[in-house]
Amino acid sequence: MNASDLASLFRFVLVRTSHPGNIGSAARAIRTMGFTRLELVAPQRFPDREADALAANAVQVLAEAGVHGTLVDGLAGTSFALGLSARRRGVNLPELSPREGATQALAAAARGEHVALLFGNERTGLENEELATCHAMVRIPSVEDFSSLNLAQAVQVMAYELRLAMLGDALPEPPPERDEPPADAAQMERFYTHLGETLDDIDFHKGREPTTIMLRLRKLFQRVQPDQRELRVLHGILADAQRMAMLARAASASPRPTQGVQVNQAEPD
Ligand code: SAH
Repeated sequence: MNASDLASLFRFVLVRTSHPGNIGSAARAIRTMGFTRLELVAPQRFPDREADALAANAVQVLAEAGVHGTLVDGLAGTSFALGLSARRRGVNLPELSPREGATQALAAAARGEHVALLFGNERTGLENEELATCHAMVRIPSVEDFSSLNLAQAVQVMAYELRLAMLGDALPEPPPERDEPPADAAQMERFYTHLGETLDDIDFHKGREPTTIMLRLRKLFQRVQPDQRELRVLHGILADAQRMAMLARAASASPRPTQGVQVNQAEPD
């Protein structure tokens, strides 16, 4: 893969950006490092003259930027994501330096995967649910008592590290091709929804608040990065668990256990 093919696999995803000037500056920042793909999730103001002004000659990046209502849409087709955050969050993801993050992101791109770099809102940063879509967190090692960089400057640091990694001789050896493509962000979301419904169906939470355990489970599956076939097997298992829960409910509701209960056999794979 040549350098521009490789660069085209990266997208910079700005989430809930308040200031259009930051969007323009981020466009310029990535363009100088050879990247062109900007995805905007629920920007407060876009398009906007301030964004154009600060993009300078990178207006093309803005013209081609995707604008999305939800993060999952902004991540469509990606299977590896890094969340940039100044603060350690409750999500407890592996924390990488920008250099380590760039190396891992480049390794994923060298396998042909689409990679997302996520940047949060200027004031509030990335929410836990947003970080939970990522495979690792990257923290730029700023000083403790003033840790938050300007959004576009954080974008610049990460784009620069990626560029350095790509210029380095040590382009990671492409690992052996996977025989199945990794699940993308939307497929993972569908799986988490199914998992959540199943845990409800089998009364796993028993009245406890499900948020923390769901974030832990996400972390587990994000770490494993299942491929599409593995995800189909997991869906099959969940569907069977749901079917058994339905049978159990029917049995406890009726003296004659399974009579009259119509069950659709799930197709695991
Ligand atoms: N108060 C927010 C800061 C938001 S700054 C917070 O604590 O998260 C806007 C965005 O720039 C952040 O969401 C993050 O994506 C990026 N950013 C700023 N400083 C950073 C740092 N030191 N390390 C990594 N990302 C940083």
